[in-house]
Amino acid sequence: MTKTTALELLAEKNEAITALNLASSLIHWDAATTGVPEKSLEKRGNAAGWLSGESFARFIAPDTLEAIEVLEGCFDELDEYEKAMVRELGRSYRKAQAIPPEEMKAYASLLSQAESVWEKARDKDDYSLVQPYYEKIFAFNRRMCDWYGFEGHPYNALLDDYDKGTTIDIADEFFSLLREKITPLVKMVSESDKKPPEIKGVFPIEKQRELTKWLCEITGYDVTRGKIGEVEHPFCMTITRNDVRITTKYHEESLLSSIYSVIHEAGHAIYEQNMPEILEDYALADAASNSMHESQSRLYENMIGRSRAFAEILLPKLQELFHEFNDWDSEMLYRAVNVARPSFIRIEADELTYSLHIIVRYELEKAIIKGEIKVEDLPGLWADKYEELLGIRPPTYAKGVLQDVHWSAGLAGYFPSYALGTAYAAQYLHAMNKAFDVDAAVRAKDFTPINNWLKENVHQHGEIFMPDELIRRATGEDFNPKYYVDYLEKKFMELYS
Ligand code: ZN
Repeated sequence: MTKTTALELLAEKNEAITALNLASSLIHWDAATTGVPEKSLEKRGNAAGWLSGESFARFIAPDTLEAIEVLEGCFDELDEYEKAMVRELGRSYRKAQAIPPEEMKAYASLLSQAESVWEKARDKDDYSLVQPYYEKIFAFNRRMCDWYGFEGHPYNALLDDYDKGTTIDIADEFFSLLREKITPLVKMVSESDKKPPEIKGVFPIEKQRELTKWLCEITGYDVTRGKIGEVEHPFCMTITRNDVRITTKYHEESLLSSIYSVIHEAGHAIYEQNMPEILEDYALADAASNSMHESQSRLYENMIGRSRAFAEILLPKLQELFHEFNDWDSEMLYRAVNVARPSFIRIEADELTYSLHIIVRYELEKAIIKGEIKVEDLPGLWADKYEELLGIRPPTYAKGVLQDVHWSAGLAGYFPSYALGTAYAAQYLHAMNKAFDVDAAVRAKDFTPINNWLKENVHQHGEIFMPDELIRRATGEDFNPKYYVDYLEKKFMELYS
């Protein structure tokens, strides 16, 4: 195989895989957002399974590796796109190939049952139902580390799946800094007598939909190149660069959950929409990592969406739509959207305590993968850690160890990316503020400088750079969690001390 035929072969595969994945995504979107006839589920499931099998088969075929090896052999002759493509394809191919096919098949079938068992266990608050599944899943995850190969701690192999290049050394240092700096802040908040105002009322869904449109417009998520769906658990889904969809969930009594899920998903979507189409030709139209994707959603949701400047522009819109805000001022709104208090459920946690929820999971996963603790001991250890870090002990398994879907979905190694992403976001915000006044842009209801800065420094690069290099190029220094800690200290000391 020559260099030219290798590039042609990979381009052909990319085209086929993109088409197959596009079809799978549409099937998934349709089922998630519109609801589909019960009787069609089986055939739809079969079709989705066939599509993903076909996509994987094309990818894992021996000629893919042959092409990768040919291009690795003449790496210096390749252009920037081709180099990144070969690096990324090589990584994914070797990981996928490392898992014995019969093991993968058994694992897939295990996972297909585990999620519904987990749901049942959570609903019945009975850990013993899901424990045997967790045992098998974690055992498989441990074997994955061997198949992938690792240096030092086996958990490094799993971390790398969600944030390429991140190791336990980096994560340990990061989380111990968070533990040291955030824990006293949480204590201060718990003991503070400052009571932020509460948003109460009934907020008609129709009006909330109007607010969603306004939020998309303000943030710069281009709805003409996407769509807004309504679901139980909000997500963002890319069909093509020009069709990036977001979802949200409306509750009449809870206005904030939809506001912040829209801003969060818009942050993900803007990242996807800002990637140049040429990256699709090289299978590089993707985030640099999970953490990097999360950095964008959290930058919009927290650093911008929960800022004073944003409260100032949000309030007039709320007053236009909901009479409940007639007597409010923007300072009240700022305080109301920044309520911080220890709580049990991660996905409902505030900006201050959120990363402590992640530390609990990180420490447990690391220990279980190393074989230092047993799956049967997870509920008790979980509760101990909540008590230690947040000062509260979950009264049930549902509010404790059974609250997340991740372990039943085989996603060990995923959690740290939520906290790392937030820390990346703080570092980007710091760099952006050196280039221009971010709050002033928000107050002027003009997100163009923000979106342009992110497009230029992060979004347009897709998967060309590794996460550590991307952040270095964008901010002029290596990843530095100090910005995140400084941000939290400044904000919450002022709010609560
Ligand atoms: Zn997200």
